[in-house]
Amino acid sequence: MLILALDFGGTKHTAGLARAQPGKRPVLVATRRQASPAGSDGPTDLKTMFSLAHSLLSEQAETPAAVGVSFGGPVDFPARAVRLSHHVPGWQGVPLAQMVEAEFGAPAAVDNDANCGALGEWRYGAGQGCSSLLYMTVSTGIGGGWLIDGKVHRGADSMAGEIGHTPVDPDGPECVCGRRGCLEIMACGPAIARCARERLRAHPNEGTLLRRLAGGDLTAITGEMVSRAAAQGDSAAGVVLLAAAHDLGTGIGNALSLMNPQRVVLGGGVTKSGKRYWAELRRSARANTLPEISAEIVPARLSDAAPLWGAIAMAEEICPPHAH
Ligand SMILES: [Zn+2]
Repeated sequence: MLILALDFGGTKHTAGLARAQPGKRPVLVATRRQASPAGSDGPTDLKTMFSLAHSLLSEQAETPAAVGVSFGGPVDFPARAVRLSHHVPGWQGVPLAQMVEAEFGAPAAVDNDANCGALGEWRYGAGQGCSSLLYMTVSTGIGGGWLIDGKVHRGADSMAGEIGHTPVDPDGPECVCGRRGCLEIMACGPAIARCARERLRAHPNEGTLLRRLAGGDLTAITGEMVSRAAAQGDSAAGVVLLAAAHDLGTGIGNALSLMNPQRVVLGGGVTKSGKRYWAELRRSARANTLPEISAEIVPARLSDAAPLWGAIAMAEEICPPHAH
């Protein structure tokens, strides 16, 4: 049984084909990925994704039995529609599941990328075997998804898990959501780059290594450069990176106290920032929650593919019975 999985990211789109096997993990047959060109919008993203999927399907004899879709933005799950994208215009109220069903002639399910990531890690990755988990992705933004008692917990408005938009500093900088000091604007990749730029402007004698990595142009600094400079011993980069880890831990500690999950699984590029980063976020999370709470905080295993694997799992669940 063939499954089509689509992952609409902020900057790239991935289509995957998987073959489901009863009682076993599906086998990923092929994936195709394309960067989203600058200035793209909802309709152009949709066109890109559909052509990726059709090119994959053209190599197969059969049609997909179901389609799972991960979307990088808020989704109204019962309405099977995208609410909006914070990064790409033209996605407001798009009935994505219906459009995918019309395009591929198979039942479709759509969820946001963090919920898909949670489901993917729980079924096939670092969340296997646990009854409750919080999945978080820390990259250009911060998303979160809950898996409770073996099910994605979406909440009354399909907005559960939006840990990126819980405030950790009410006087902090303005976030994409319009409020101040959200976890996302304090600890995502671009936030780390912003803090590093501010620090290097204020301290002209600091950050020799980071300045070199950025070719002397502070505006060229990225979060990844800060991680790399910190790993190579740049103390200014280290201070900035650990401050972001501290804020991330604060947010995680709040979530632990509220929901007491068994495990926290962290994915996204920023979480590849090394041992000191992990030690600080774990220390900060522990310090900001109750001592009885024992949740382990572990790295994601599926990396960037977690939402795609979640989309595969979702599609498996909605496959028509005769397809098995
Ligand atoms: Zn926010």
